[in-house]
Amino acid sequence: MATLLGAAPLVKDAALQRYVNQVGTWIAAQSAQPQLNWHFGVIDSPNINAFAAPGGYVLITRGLWNQLRSEAELAAILAHEISHVINKDQIEAMKNTNRGAITEELITAVLNYKVQGERLDLAKKATKAATEGLYIKGLSKDTEYAADLNGMLLAARAGYNPYAMVSMLQTLGNVSPSDSAVALFFSTHPSPQDRIDQIDSKIGDQLEAYANGVDNTARFSKIAR
Ligand SMILES: [Zn+2]
Repeated sequence: MATLLGAAPLVKDAALQRYVNQVGTWIAAQSAQPQLNWHFGVIDSPNINAFAAPGGYVLITRGLWNQLRSEAELAAILAHEISHVINKDQIEAMKNTNRGAITEELITAVLNYKVQGERLDLAKKATKAATEGLYIKGLSKDTEYAADLNGMLLAARAGYNPYAMVSMLQTLGNVSPSDSAVALFFSTHPSPQDRIDQIDSKIGDQLEAYANGVDNTARFSKIAR
């Protein structure tokens, strides 16, 4: 997260950050790990993307925030990222990209300030290298599809219309691939249409009973963009 925040700090808008934390914390409270120390934020980048890191950190970009049309679409993205954290997808990918230099124990120790001195420096270096690799390469397609499905279940459990995941992906699919704001997003994720096709085949109308969940809220419309 520090690597990401170093490149793009949080947007200086307390109302926006508070709102995204309220929505994210509520959804995380319905997840398998409500006790994690969850943090949510919007970073000041025009690119369209969202990120999660071990320990419960979730960031979305200002560029992505500006694309959203409802609180349920925000919930869909946060639930997708929360699912990555719960499944430890980033830790698995970091272990795979760094030939064993990164272990889950090491990351946990760094997060809990349980490593000191020279070992902490080594741990930070290894974690930084793995983070940068992950940032460029992204996760596997199957991992992304799974986070979409688990995210929809989680969003439904939190009271949102889970099909906002589909409308959000349709919006992203309408952004021109030549737009530099989506370059990293498109190179690290399956195409929005492929993700929608996966949702259609795996979930279809099975969550229809939850489609009357929350879509929009007055508080979403109140936040300036
Ligand atoms: Zn993802």
